[in-house]
Amino acid sequence: MQYDYDLLVVGSANADLVIGVERRPAAGETVLGSDLAVHPGGKGANQAVAAARLGARTALLARVGDDAHGRLLLASQDAAGVDTDGVLVGGAPTGVALITVDPSGDNSIVVSPGANARLTPEDVRAAGDLISRSRVVSAQLEIPLETVTEVVRTLPAGTRFVLNPSPPAPLPAEVLAACDPLVLNEHEAAFILGDTPGDAPEDWSRALLRLGPRSVVITLGAQGALVAEGRTDTVVRVPSPRVDAVDTTGAGDAFTAALAWRLGLGDELPAAAAFAVRVGAVAVTRRGAQDSFPTAEEVGAP
Ligand code: ADP
Repeated sequence: MQYDYDLLVVGSANADLVIGVERRPAAGETVLGSDLAVHPGGKGANQAVAAARLGARTALLARVGDDAHGRLLLASQDAAGVDTDGVLVGGAPTGVALITVDPSGDNSIVVSPGANARLTPEDVRAAGDLISRSRVVSAQLEIPLETVTEVVRTLPAGTRFVLNPSPPAPLPAEVLAACDPLVLNEHEAAFILGDTPGDAPEDWSRALLRLGPRSVVITLGAQGALVAEGRTDTVVRVPSPRVDAVDTTGAGDAFTAALAWRLGLGDELPAAAAFAVRVGAVAVTRRGAQDSFPTAEEVGAP
């Protein structure tokens, strides 16, 4: 089978509106802040840019508003080389994250999903051709769960599905069964497991496998990642290179995109994760989300 895309990302696109403040405001309070910074973001848009920057032939299925934020998001995808024919425009304002951040780095965030909430199962069905031309499809949960469920139902046999359940939500069995892998951090794993079996991520990964995914990858920040595969009944640790982290924003998105791309190229899951931790480690040494994502050359591929 010839595929036109190494990776199709189905997910969110948000404008991140960031204001630095001395102190985050209490109820009823007004504080003055820095100049406004507007960055392209959202987990779907981030993953697509991260994959394209690595050299993956990447497409994005998303929805933005017919507004300046939507145009900003399309421009950042275009600049990275992402195919945006699948980005639908209109129906609601572009999703926005209103972020205030204080000098210690603590932030308060309000998200308006906007157009992301209007990416429907019908939109997925209409994009069937895009899905069938993609070797790997990845999704996250900043779009409606029923839309992600429709993606799973639309997948042709042989197309690999990667899900990052963020923000975490209870997942239907048919979605879990399609994940190969389910990629999540420790907070998301704890949410999905509810009752966590002890402290060892190895035990968590086995408990997650029992929920039905074919494989599980738990990201462990500076510790790298843990890979668990049902078919071989193996759990392996993949250590991260040691780096001086300055900003972990978007690290999980860079990791997931790199992993999905390498799986599509034919890597086994531990090898794909070993590449993905190198991508995540570069991303955390730079500020911002999309601005921090490396090229394959910067990672020192292969
Ligand atoms: P999330 O950003 O979703 O919370 P993690 O914090 O686990 O997820 O980070 C995702 C990946 O980014 C990690 O698996 C690792 O590869 C990389 N990473 C994150 N923090 C660091 C760090 N301090 N040093 C090196 N790599 C890191």
